[in-house]
Amino acid sequence: MKSDCVFCKIIAGDIPAQVVAENAEVIVIKDINPRAPLHYLIIPKKHVPDISYLTPDDHQLAGSLLMMAQELSQQDPNAREFRLISNNGATVGQVVFHIHLHFLAGKVLS
Ligand code: AMP
Ligand code: ZN
Repeated sequence: MKSDCVFCKIIAGDIPAQVVAENAEVIVIKDINPRAPLHYLIIPKKHVPDISYLTPDDHQLAGSLLMMAQELSQQDPNAREFRLISNNGATVGQVVFHIHLHFLAGKVLS
C-alpha cells in the first residue's frame, strides 16, 4: 500500500471503482475513461510502480496478470478477442505508477 497511489486506494476500498473481477493477487476495474467498449484495468494488489520493478519473487504475480486476461476473455463473448497494453514510464504515457494492464475489447482497434 502506497498512500499516494490511486490504485492502492481503490484496492484498500478508500476510493470507489467498478470492480469486474478479483482474486487474492489481482483486481480488475473498469477504466474511468474508457477507450473501447470494454476497457478494463488488470491490477496486482501489490504495489509495484511498473514492470521494470518486478523481481524474481514476482513470478507468480506476473503470471496472475496474464491469467486474469485469459479469464476475462472467457467470461464474455465480446471479450474473446482483446488487446493488452502496458505503459511503463512517463515518457511512454504512464500516468498511474502502479502496474496495470489495459484490457481493451469490443471493437476493431487501429
Ligand atoms: P496509464 O496511462 O497506463 O498509467 O493509464 C492509467 C489509466 O488509469 C487511465 O486509462 C485512466 O483513465 C485510469 N484511471 C485513473 N484513475 C482511475 C480511477 N480512479 N478509476 C478507474 N480508472 C482510473
Ligand atoms: Zn499502488
